[in-house]
Amino acid sequence: MASKRNIRIAIIGAGASGLMALIQLRACGYRDVVIFEKAAALGGTWRDNRYPGLNCDVPSHAYRFSFAPNAEWSQTCASGPDILAYLHTVARDHEVARFIRYNAEVISARYDDGLWYLATATQAEMPFEAVITATGVLHHPVYPQIVGLETFAGAAFHSSRWPDDIAIGGQRIGVIGTGSTATQIVGATVDTAKSVTLFQRTAQWILPLANPEISEDERAQFRADPELLQGQYDRLNHEATTKFAAAIVGANPHTLATLGRLCREHLETVVDPVLREQLTPDYPVGCKRLVMSDRFYAAIQRPNAELVTAAIDGIEPEGVRTVGGVLHRLDILVLATGFNTHQFFRPMRVHGLAGADLDQVWAEENVSYLGVTTPALPNWFMIGGPHSPIGNFSWLLTAETQFGYIKQLLDLMRQGAKEIAAKPAAAAAFRAAVRDQVPKTVWAQGCNSWYIDKNGNVASWPWTYDKFKADMAAPVLADFSVRAWH
Ligand code: NAP
Repeated sequence: MASKRNIRIAIIGAGASGLMALIQLRACGYRDVVIFEKAAALGGTWRDNRYPGLNCDVPSHAYRFSFAPNAEWSQTCASGPDILAYLHTVARDHEVARFIRYNAEVISARYDDGLWYLATATQAEMPFEAVITATGVLHHPVYPQIVGLETFAGAAFHSSRWPDDIAIGGQRIGVIGTGSTATQIVGATVDTAKSVTLFQRTAQWILPLANPEISEDERAQFRADPELLQGQYDRLNHEATTKFAAAIVGANPHTLATLGRLCREHLETVVDPVLREQLTPDYPVGCKRLVMSDRFYAAIQRPNAELVTAAIDGIEPEGVRTVGGVLHRLDILVLATGFNTHQFFRPMRVHGLAGADLDQVWAEENVSYLGVTTPALPNWFMIGGPHSPIGNFSWLLTAETQFGYIKQLLDLMRQGAKEIAAKPAAAAAFRAAVRDQVPKTVWAQGCNSWYIDKNGNVASWPWTYDKFKADMAAPVLADFSVRAWH
């Protein structure tokens, strides 16, 4: 095989993982790399989500790229705007702007004989040897199917489409949903809104996560001492991966029990027994992605807040009518109804090996090998593909770890491999292993959540961080078909 072929790489998405991939590839000497970004700006989920109270629940010192440590976080868990600012700073420091094509949604991708041909709405097919999808997971908003939604006279919008110009002061706000997003919005709007009405279909367990400021003195210490900053990252990461992430996949029952106790004790802070009962979930802690907030229970107990547990019957111009006939009059209706986490990079039309249509190949179920490749799509690498760890570890850690694996396959292409595709048998064995493992996780213990696909199968990575790290350390080449250029 010849050494160091030039390979053209298209990255799809200029969110955190796409930026990371671009910067890492360039650092490794890949010169021909471009990002296609459908929006007009970078930042992915941190660009899209602009709702009041937006905050990450991964501690900020553990939420950073390995190549861009950050001593400047001002809160233990950073706000959305601070994280977006971090991504912009990283992009500026690494001079990535000229490699990003904005307003360039890839609408089709076609594989033919070692090349991918990508097209956008305005650009005809462009050839690339390899594609990296970095399109995020919590990305496609789910809009509830509620009769009359379109008739609402006030502003109604999905939480990830928060209008920049909306004033909430003195308004009657309705929020549908009780996930991490809804609880943050309730906590952040109750002080200024005239009223906040939360429509709950399912109660959530809530871990009381405090979010103290990081003082200027502390920041100065981190700034002056990179080892201190790295030590803080290592400690937080170790805690998160060996405790929370291990607990939810059944590998740390002690921590799972502790989380349960903390959530139940937190619930006891709700004074009214009726409200407390309404807020009590009927499934185990961690089954749905754990909500972390030390503000929500206080907020929902405020005199101008109301929890509505009656099912929604319909939406009318004046507000939301619940079963039993009560009309909840509202000025603003926030649909904090979550995301379709199983769509990945679609609706892009993708045709892979022998013209295979991915919509058909994945019609029954999304198929991946280790979350990063899929047999029908050679030279197509996914950051956060099906069965990736989503919500287990810091997303930035997951993305970088997957990238490290993908980069080794790209290196093979640079050394002369024309076509690298996971073997169907390897993907099938991976899927079987996922199915075997899933019942041991808390996600499979009797609740509905975005971890579960349309077939009722838990679709997330069901193992520990140590296994993820080991599996991502180096590709097992026997699991791939590799063809060379002749
Ligand atoms: P989510 O957790 O999927 O919650 C969606 C909520 O909408 C659920 O309460 C769901 O009820 C409800 N819902 C959906 N359709 C409905 C309908 N037709 N009628 C009534 N209720 C309906 O979504 P999310 O809150 O946006 O959070 C998604 C994920 O994003 C989180 O789990 C987390 O991983 C991430 N996130 C993290 C943070 C953070 O770092 N703190 C903040 C925001 C988001 P059911 O439970 O009954 O289905």
